[in-house]
Amino acid sequence: PPVDLPIHDAVLGRAAAYGDTPALIDGTDGTTLTYEQVDRFHRRVAAALAETGVRKGDVLALHSPNTVAFPLAFYAATRAGASVTTVHPLATAEEFAKQLGDSRARWIVTVSPLLDTARRAAELAGGVQEILVCDSAPGHRSLIDMLASAAPEPSVALDPAEDVAALPYSSGTTGTPKGVMLTHRQIATNLAQLEPLMPAAPGDRVLAVLPFFHIYGLTALMNAPLRLGATVVVLPRFDLEQFLAAIQNHRITGLYVAPPIVLALAKHPLVADYDLSSLKYIVSAAAPLDAKLAAACSRRLGLPPVGQAYGMTELSPGTHVVPLDAMSAAPPGTVGKLIAGTEMRVVSLDGPGKDLGVGESGEILIRGPQVMKGYLGRPDATAAMIDEDGWLHTGDVGHVDAEGWLFVVDRVKELIKYKGFQVAPAELEALLLTHPGIADAAVVGAYNDDGNEVPHAYVVRQPAAPDLSEGEIMMYVAERVAPYKRVRRVTFVDGVPRAASGKILRRELRGRS
Ligand code: ATP
Ligand code: MG
Repeated sequence: PPVDLPIHDAVLGRAAAYGDTPALIDGTDGTTLTYEQVDRFHRRVAAALAETGVRKGDVLALHSPNTVAFPLAFYAATRAGASVTTVHPLATAEEFAKQLGDSRARWIVTVSPLLDTARRAAELAGGVQEILVCDSAPGHRSLIDMLASAAPEPSVALDPAEDVAALPYSSGTTGTPKGVMLTHRQIATNLAQLEPLMPAAPGDRVLAVLPFFHIYGLTALMNAPLRLGATVVVLPRFDLEQFLAAIQNHRITGLYVAPPIVLALAKHPLVADYDLSSLKYIVSAAAPLDAKLAAACSRRLGLPPVGQAYGMTELSPGTHVVPLDAMSAAPPGTVGKLIAGTEMRVVSLDGPGKDLGVGESGEILIRGPQVMKGYLGRPDATAAMIDEDGWLHTGDVGHVDAEGWLFVVDRVKELIKYKGFQVAPAELEALLLTHPGIADAAVVGAYNDDGNEVPHAYVVRQPAAPDLSEGEIMMYVAERVAPYKRVRRVTFVDGVPRAASGKILRRELRGRS
């Protein structure tokens, strides 16, 4: 059943009862907020925001790396009635201004190191009434000052089914990022759907290294654990040594990561220097994760297989997870089973909407209470995504097995069509990563002189394998795949460009040779 609570109540409804349990710990300096403090502080900040003039329906832009204050700002804003649009902390002033203009944000909450960018963005966009800071900066009010507010707590009548709680922007992997309207009900319902499969409890400690501003981090590392009394250790960015040290020092029990971090855990020599024995599970989502890589990671750490989850911003975000208690039983490579209260179809890529059977790959369609309200100000794009019967067309290709486990192959748009055959870049990337001399890899479609689209690999060599050649790589792949899947061009690069959520930015590679 749908959860009709505003998001701050859905998440923090039990906070007072968790009392002195640490809710948030800054992984760099140890600053700790207990549940009682999170509950009390976000109410104070909400009161101060309301006194400042924040009203129901206003959009507040939250522009910050992960900090212990991030959730306070988020829940304070929604309690004051605002919709929160989360902004990439590394966005340029121009990108930020675009999001401000598109979302018509009236308020910005930022941090002092990002203040110049925020000021320039506000100037470019216009319409911003005030820039607040989480920490402190001359000339700006801070959340810390607001904790002393004596203003009455706002009582805003929110309609969870209609009012937008969060306005995240999609990653922009396939085009320009779109503002995704998620209501309180959609987010709260999705949390309730995921909860039985990914339980947490006081004493559990998760590491928030993926950004809160992206829907995956917002859900798996902020809303879900805080709803269940777990402790969230916060890191501002991914730095392998800091990340490993935080797992060791804070006795982290669970990780929610993206494939590049699984890759580092599986392959990087530094990993051996740390005691990671507190870990009980690792979940990966946001991009395709190869079964062999997942197995290499869990074997090295002595853990149950890395589990996966699948979702997208437009789905609040989850639809599939490998339940924590089924990680060993789940077939390798699966992204999980469909969560309760949600329907899925797999339909043919070539015909109009023909439903496919077990093992047959097609486009994944989803219907359920977590399907977004729509793209902000883009009814055309919304209509292209959600059909009249309420099915959201994910743009992802996958298939299910006889027990209902879903396997995601790749995005429809990324499939390479070689002489009528379809090649999934994710499969070739996974294969390339099994080569000991390859540190990282990405594959995109490129056109040959004869007009055929062919797989083009961009490869980062391991420092220990500086002489690994194009020919050796092509041979390595050719020996292991059907002829139509062969890599036909190789370019060596220093790094693979990725979005903050871990996705390969193939458009940035395309055409580089
Ligand atoms: P845009 O829609 O702006 O191009 P995006 O689709 O990358 O960007 P997100 O909403 O962050 O934005 O990502 C959702 C996508 O991530 C899914 O459609 C899917 O392609 C991919 N994804 C998520 N989880 C998994 C997974 N477990 N395995 C494979 N792919 C995944
Ligand atoms: Mg998308």
